[in-house]
Amino acid sequence: MCQDCETQTLNRRNLFKLAGVGLTAAALVASVPAHAATTPVLPTGTSPVTSPSEALARLKQGNQRFVQDAEACATHMAATRGELAGSQHPWATILTCSDSRVSPELVFGGSTLGELFVIRNAGNVLDTGALGTIEYGTEHLKSPLVVVMGHSKCGAITAACDEVTKGAELGGSIGKMVQPILPIVLSAKDKGSDLIAQTVRLNAISGARRIAEESRIVSDLVAAGRVKIVAAVYDITSGEVEFIEDI
Ligand SMILES: [Zn+2]
Repeated sequence: MCQDCETQTLNRRNLFKLAGVGLTAAALVASVPAHAATTPVLPTGTSPVTSPSEALARLKQGNQRFVQDAEACATHMAATRGELAGSQHPWATILTCSDSRVSPELVFGGSTLGELFVIRNAGNVLDTGALGTIEYGTEHLKSPLVVVMGHSKCGAITAACDEVTKGAELGGSIGKMVQPILPIVLSAKDKGSDLIAQTVRLNAISGARRIAEESRIVSDLVAAGRVKIVAAVYDITSGEVEFIEDI
């Protein structure tokens, strides 16, 4: 999150420093989960996020900023590059589409270096590479939140829908890439008139569900309350992200 957007947080931090090791500090330390054993190196202007609920709240606040005043969220990457060179502690892992209009760092309010651990492919398909990357983000980097985010007017989803409804054949590796989406298109056909929108939504939910079903590492972290998995849909026109927490 950029420094301009974090003014209030920084003000609180200054108060905290002035207070020294007082009751506020004790309460803050007590709120840090046991698995956050090391002190994270954070980008300048950001505060630690260690729980799934904090991470989700920060994404929602960031998206509100993006929708209301996207230009206000300039990042200060030069100041944080050196600070993060030794380690990273991203607080959210995000699987989303490669679409050039869907940039998670922008969509979530100017998140800067070191904040989001991002996997992208056309159609946000949960393949082996994506799942392994999510395991790395949650287990090794201690990211407490996983988001699988589809988006409106997705080209990969549209192509999969066309293959099912019009028999359009996709050549090369693109055809193989969208194959996992085809069963979701079939299931979406019964859900309403807008097949592409329904498939986008179901594809995100399916990906989010499959993470815990197919990864023992992540399902154990979820069971321990250290990780939460949610689905989301980004509207490329309004900029709004709808979170689907009950997957
Ligand atoms: Zn897409």
